[in-house]
Amino acid sequence: MQAIKDIFRIGKGPSSSHTIAPYRACDLFLKNHKDLDHYKVELYGSLALTGKGHKTDAIIKEVLGAKADVHFCLKLDEEPRNIMIIKGYQGEKLIDTWHVESLGGGSIKINEYDSGDEREYYPHDHFDDIKAYCKANDLLLIDYILKFEPDILDYLDHCIDMMCESVKRGISKEGLLNDRLGVFRSAKGLFLEGQKSNDPDLLRMAYAYAASEENADGDIVCTAPTLGSCGVAASFVYSSLYDGGYSKDMIKKALAVGGLFANIIKKNASISGALGGCQAEIGTACALTASAITYLEGGDIDTIEYAAEVGIEHHLGLTCDPVYGLVIIPCIERNAVAILRSYDAAKLAINIARLHNHKVSFDMVVGSMRETGKMISPEFKETSLGGLALAFKEED
Ligand code: SF4
Repeated sequence: MQAIKDIFRIGKGPSSSHTIAPYRACDLFLKNHKDLDHYKVELYGSLALTGKGHKTDAIIKEVLGAKADVHFCLKLDEEPRNIMIIKGYQGEKLIDTWHVESLGGGSIKINEYDSGDEREYYPHDHFDDIKAYCKANDLLLIDYILKFEPDILDYLDHCIDMMCESVKRGISKEGLLNDRLGVFRSAKGLFLEGQKSNDPDLLRMAYAYAASEENADGDIVCTAPTLGSCGVAASFVYSSLYDGGYSKDMIKKALAVGGLFANIIKKNASISGALGGCQAEIGTACALTASAITYLEGGDIDTIEYAAEVGIEHHLGLTCDPVYGLVIIPCIERNAVAILRSYDAAKLAINIARLHNHKVSFDMVVGSMRETGKMISPEFKETSLGGLALAFKEED
């Protein structure tokens, strides 16, 4: 399994597969091919179909500059994949071509170049094996993570700062978020109401809105595991630090444990809305956060697994249908709902684990998620061709 660090990438919104991944691919291409006359980037699959709303062309031009042409190849395939082809020219002569796949959360696979994203850090890919290894070696989950990724906590220290900054910015801003939708920012209003009524749920929803609105506006946020779902873990982090009184050290460890579950999903199913629907993004964010909360509450390895499993199980089949290709409706509200579901999943796991044996393992639900994702039709995989996206189109 690859690095947990890659579950938490910092970059510009609104979509890790549509902004961070193209940014990284174009940046690597440029580093390998400086001073060419001209670049051409072709986008396929969801990268093309929602690329405008997800600001993919803007981020590509930000890296490659005015010498870049971006082409949207608007064709819906049976098995859509997020592909970009980058070509570099000197005069009329084609110098190099890269075939890049955006895998979700900003990870990329480049056929012609090693991006480093596929390096293996962990010897296990499944939670059952990790649990058996921990029990055999008398290790806590956090010990296991630190054994194979010793610098993870230092890295997460910075991620926590970035998450908190995004929430702080978001709860201080007002005004129009998007003129086409006529949607205004709501985080500040929810925050003030939450403070007035001293309602922790309302405050957590406000924090999820805050990070998600910053993301939708194209500002810097932190994936967990994606940008579209960044508000869930950011809300947990901010609320634990500022309202819950937990230390940053404890929260870092909780985030690492949550990241382990997201990483298992990334390895065995998908964290990409374009590949698995929104269950892959918001479902994973909920599993990540539910397991992190349970860790913070002192849950043992079985209870933490239970919380992560509940987080996924009740998002199975969740589709991705972003209106106008923007990461606003249903995404922002979905983050706010998912932070509450994360606390529910943790509470349920902590209390129900004492009453009966867990019937559905985490690995089992991840397998179901993978198979469910395959059966979700392309219209519901970040293409804006179904569901709410279609309903808005019909209204236009
Ligand atoms: S609906 Fe879910 S998967 Fe789709 S763009 Fe929004 S947050 Fe991402």
